[in-house]
Amino acid sequence: MTEFSGTSGLIHSEPLLWEKGRPGRSAFSLPRRDVDFSPPDEGLVGKGPEFPDLSELEVVRHYTRLSQWNFAVDTGMYPLGSCTMKYNPKLHEKYAALQGLSGAHPLLPGSLSQGALCLMHTLERFLAEITGMDAVSLQPAAGAQGELAGMLLIHAYHKRKGEQRTKILIPDTAHGTNPASAALCRYRPVAIRSGENGILSARAVEGLMDEETAGIMVTNPNTLGLFEEEIRQIAAVVHSRGGLVYCDGANLNAVMGMVDMGRCAVDVLHCNLHKTFSTPHGGGGPGAGPLCVQKELAPFLPVPRVVETPDGYALSEDFPLSVGRVHAFYGNFGVLVRAYAYILTMGAKGLKKASQMAVLNANYIKERLKGTFHLPYDRPCMHECVFSDKFQRVHKVTTLDMAKRLMDYGFHPPTIYFPLIVHGALMVEPTETESKEQIDLFVEACKAIAAEAHQEPELLWEAPRRCKVRRMEEAAAARHPCLSG
Ligand SMILES: *Cc1c(COP(=O)(O)O)cnc(C)c1O
Repeated sequence: MTEFSGTSGLIHSEPLLWEKGRPGRSAFSLPRRDVDFSPPDEGLVGKGPEFPDLSELEVVRHYTRLSQWNFAVDTGMYPLGSCTMKYNPKLHEKYAALQGLSGAHPLLPGSLSQGALCLMHTLERFLAEITGMDAVSLQPAAGAQGELAGMLLIHAYHKRKGEQRTKILIPDTAHGTNPASAALCRYRPVAIRSGENGILSARAVEGLMDEETAGIMVTNPNTLGLFEEEIRQIAAVVHSRGGLVYCDGANLNAVMGMVDMGRCAVDVLHCNLHKTFSTPHGGGGPGAGPLCVQKELAPFLPVPRVVETPDGYALSEDFPLSVGRVHAFYGNFGVLVRAYAYILTMGAKGLKKASQMAVLNANYIKERLKGTFHLPYDRPCMHECVFSDKFQRVHKVTTLDMAKRLMDYGFHPPTIYFPLIVHGALMVEPTETESKEQIDLFVEACKAIAAEAHQEPELLWEAPRRCKVRRMEEAAAARHPCLSG
């Protein structure tokens, strides 16, 4: 079929700008030059890429079309597991853009930054209260960086005691960044198997915890969407051998107002502001992974720290045991503004309600789909639920086929093939921001797809059929990156 890019709005192909360009076209018209032409010094500016010649309208249409091919939380349900792709109120964007906040220069003296410092100090207190921890650093720019800072902190703690421990215990239900962060700190990640019920037992930890082990990194709720119920017993085992407990709290969206991580005996925890606290998440934009600790570990937090003095707020580097800086200035300030605004607009009751609704929605999906998809761990879940393609595999239909087919039904596919301990995993996190009607539509689409898998599997093998781009080679971009234009 010939593909037209006419005016119907249905654009089936969009060539690259290089393919569209025609020599001599121009997107601007300048007055005739009245000085001699002198080419720029290549030594100074370097030789740039060869850009195609295009008219202004061609450029505008190209980018506008591409922007309409996007899928976002603002266009439809985005049920990725382990990512919390929820709706973030636009109001907080407005606050983050306020001139006094977005224009605040990080090199301004403290006396001219009292508002920003007060905001950061208050946000630290809010997060301490929400998590049940004592002290907070807002510096890390992402969850994974919070983990890295946390590992550095655990290392500094042992070093201070004159110990050099080499291992970190990490359950098989942890997020993939956990072993990577431990390894970056030169710790050797030691895997622990979770039990038949999908959670970790204190007994399993007991068997592996020794004086060579610096601590444990537990994702809680874990990547199966299950709460680690034995966390306190696990912490007791780890503490009894001198180790520390790190909790990956990126999934705080499930537990706000319900779980006090401090009372769960967690020593160090990070949370992801860009998942739970109103920063649009995705596309690799700026984030924040604040690090929260018990008071014995506060001296090790990154500097500078916001302190309250008789003359107001100030940034202090005067923490000799600190692991140092992990980010330029104080982190991603705009993200902090959004989180502060979100917490204030929700209030304590609202935050708790958000978590309750997130958990309710996930359990609703789990219950409605459990006969349709295989549910490997059939027990109450937290913010997300994990299915597998076991029932569909007999028809030679896989998780990937079903995820692609969901796109034909207008849904972003959920997370697939993660966590690794579930073969053919399909991991769904609806979040608290989807309505029952929307969730019902998603459930109906999943049921329809499961029926197709049974009756017309070829529909799934060829999916997506209605998207601009059909099946792409999943790994080509990573294996053969095209790094030049
Ligand atoms: C998202 C996530 C991370 C990583 O956070 P980034 O901000 O993407 O670095 C770590 N752990 C868990 C459980 C997560 O869900």
